[in-house]
Amino acid sequence: MRLRDWRPVCPAGELRSISLHWTAHDYEAVFPVYHFCLRGVSDVVVVQTHDLRANMRDLRRDPASPYAAHTLGRNSWSIGLAVCGMADARPSDFGRYPLAAAQIDALCVVARTLADAYHIPLAAIRTHAEAALEDGYFGADDDDLRWDIARLEPRPEPLADREATATGDRLRARIAAVR
Ligand SMILES: [Zn+2]
Repeated sequence: MRLRDWRPVCPAGELRSISLHWTAHDYEAVFPVYHFCLRGVSDVVVVQTHDLRANMRDLRRDPASPYAAHTLGRNSWSIGLAVCGMADARPSDFGRYPLAAAQIDALCVVARTLADAYHIPLAAIRTHAEAALEDGYFGADDDDLRWDIARLEPRPEPLADREATATGDRLRARIAAVR
């Protein structure tokens, strides 16, 4: 569904947080570890890849039932959103599928729409990088580390912890400004 036509189906239930990701693939591939993937670059299409109801519960009680496993240890009552892109990206070189401004704009609209629908506070909308920082796996130097979405444009400076928080703050400000 093109973003301008997108109206999410919001089943009744409790959702408390939203995690913001990139897929680390190309601009087209979508994955069911997220609830929504934003495909394309300029004309962004919102693809629902998992039913929101799957995460409306304490996943520790029944971890074997399927759910969108987007953020390690933080998927209970949590929505996962991802922009498609950033395959083989490094902080200094975003590669063949770099984050595009329209994708981030679209991500903010989708996050705001879902936050409004489920009464999720702005502070509970966070990047995977912020969760990774708290949980000890933030970084770009290893496949086991995560840095989505700690940087919006490639720069030569090494990735710093504070950048994850600063970029999260920027994204939250943009989400708050969506109308
Ligand atoms: Zn992620």
